[in-house]
Amino acid sequence: MMRKGVLKIVVPCYNEEEVLHETNKRLLEVITTMEQSGKIVSGGVVYVDDGSRDKTWQIIDELSKADPHVAGIKLAHNAGHQNALFAGLTLASECCDMAVSIDADLQDDTNAIFEMVDKYNDGAEVVYGVRRERTTDTWFKRNTALGFYKMMNKMGTDVKYNHADFRLMGSAALKALVAMPERNLFLRGMVRTLGFQEADVYYDRSERFAGESKYPLTKMLNFAVDGITSFSVKPLRLILTFGVFFLVMAILAIGYGLYSYFIIGGTIRGWTSLLVSLWFIGGSLMIAVGIVGEYVGKIYKEVKRRPLYVIERTENLK
Ligand code: UDP
Ligand code: MG
Repeated sequence: MMRKGVLKIVVPCYNEEEVLHETNKRLLEVITTMEQSGKIVSGGVVYVDDGSRDKTWQIIDELSKADPHVAGIKLAHNAGHQNALFAGLTLASECCDMAVSIDADLQDDTNAIFEMVDKYNDGAEVVYGVRRERTTDTWFKRNTALGFYKMMNKMGTDVKYNHADFRLMGSAALKALVAMPERNLFLRGMVRTLGFQEADVYYDRSERFAGESKYPLTKMLNFAVDGITSFSVKPLRLILTFGVFFLVMAILAIGYGLYSYFIIGGTIRGWTSLLVSLWFIGGSLMIAVGIVGEYVGKIYKEVKRRPLYVIERTENLK
């Protein structure tokens, strides 16, 4: 089967004034090359300004006026990477046959898009960009990311190792994705559950072209917790296991206590162990309540049905 169509490249941008011109240049190069070679019918870039405080929107506005290939969506406030991307994909899904999502900072190899489109033309509906190695990331980022994947999979969330949010989706997959009603987005996990024909494209990840990471450690940790609790109830099950374990320990301890009281005698010595176990149990209870609270918080957010993002204006979107 050979198919071909209209491509939109969706780029979430938060304070990216330093990279936007270069990003736009490279993406337009990719698009015009493919238009000329007939790999796609036509292409365009959709920038989503995620409530930036710098000149990001001004630049998007200028770029969209200079070139009809460029469109912009301005969100009214910083909705976060996942929500901004979701906004872009939702609007793009109405005017394209396939959409590629990519970060603004050029860490992902724009040339991999050629191969993604090839795979789409050959029939794949979801094409994952998978990075070969994380040699350019710092030691810290590399290892925390690895730990993140391992933990996610252990906790029951199916994530693809070394794939972030650089991927191509055909319109069927896109429509299925944007129809998902949930509020706590973890897109890379959600896409995995769709079940369309999938393919991988490998690429080398480079340094951020300019500017600083918009994902500081706190945001990354939040993302990891969201990823796990949005997809799996395993942590809840884990609490139960711990609870049973502690109960068994407690029964043993009671047996031991009675034994030493009645048979051995003179038991003032137990004070230290008592104090320690008290703290221990208090701590584990608090963790347990915290995990439950995490899920209750999620339910609260889902029940509120607040919009994921608020669009202030759009430019050139058709
Ligand atoms: N981003 C966003 N909203 C945010 C944070 C980040 O739209 O609140 C965008 C950002 O502009 C970039 C992408 O998400 O295009 C990934 O962010 P970044 O490259 O800073 O993350 P890192 O690669 O360091 O994990
Ligand atoms: Mg980055």
